[in-house]
Amino acid sequence: MLKGKIAVVTGASRGIGRAIAVKLAAEGAVVIINYNRSKDEAEKVKEQIEASGGQVKLIQCNVASFESCEKMFEEVMKEFGRIDILVNNAGITKDGLLMKMSEDDFDAVVDTNLKGAFHCIRFVSRAMIRQRSGRIINISSVSGVLGNAGQANYAASKAGIIGLTKTMARELASRGITVNGIAPGFVDTEMTQVLSDEVKEAATKQIPLGRFGKPEDIANMAAYLASEKAAYITGQIISVDGGMAI
Ligand code: NAP
Repeated sequence: MLKGKIAVVTGASRGIGRAIAVKLAAEGAVVIINYNRSKDEAEKVKEQIEASGGQVKLIQCNVASFESCEKMFEEVMKEFGRIDILVNNAGITKDGLLMKMSEDDFDAVVDTNLKGAFHCIRFVSRAMIRQRSGRIINISSVSGVLGNAGQANYAASKAGIIGLTKTMARELASRGITVNGIAPGFVDTEMTQVLSDEVKEAATKQIPLGRFGKPEDIANMAAYLASEKAAYITGQIISVDGGMAI
């Protein structure tokens, strides 16, 4: 149970982030839902959590901006005075073969997926160090573990998340803070709904369990890593991918 814990989930207006926010709230955490563009969807997540008796706050912030993240965490600290759990989930794709990839598409993906996580950890770790406790969970990807043709920017950002996770785990362990990553395989969200049926079929063939994951599959692992039960786990990247990376 996460009763009374203060949790920030980035990119929680849709998909995996939404499922993580709902799960953490169901476990008793007060959840701060960060969104960038999808205000209406974020409002719906808030309504859903409140309808089940949960406590939630919405904050708009583009995680790719250092200043925007600073403001978000100032607001959280002003209202709640502490941060127990950070889930770095916000992410985008801009796929294409590297030879044709624009600098803008490379930068946009790295700025959101990797630098966004750096920004959030930068501000949250200060509060967690003072508290001498905390849980940081970074969402990587099977693409960061194995590489994936057509996703040089995305795979680089997600492999970067793995290095960031292991390094932060080492830097923060002595302060009672754990830092872990989750590497999802293909999960049924808007990010993968854009794939053609042929690509989805080919992808499914690479998954030993024979199906795409559900956002809840990832949320269950995030809730476990955020809990007391995971107190002795740090610096790990846990694949939740139906066996794809075996
Ligand atoms: P999604 O359905 O496209 O949702 C992405 C979320 O990230 C949205 O809530 C979006 O918010 C938010 N976001 C994007 N840019 C942002 C920014 N600059 N600042 C703040 N929030 C931002 O994607 P998803 O499938 O749930 O993916 C969630 C995470 O899991 C990502 O890190 C993704 O790389 C990772 N992942 C996904 C899969 C998969 O198969 N789906 C597999 C492996 C890893 P707004 O709409 O409000 O902008």
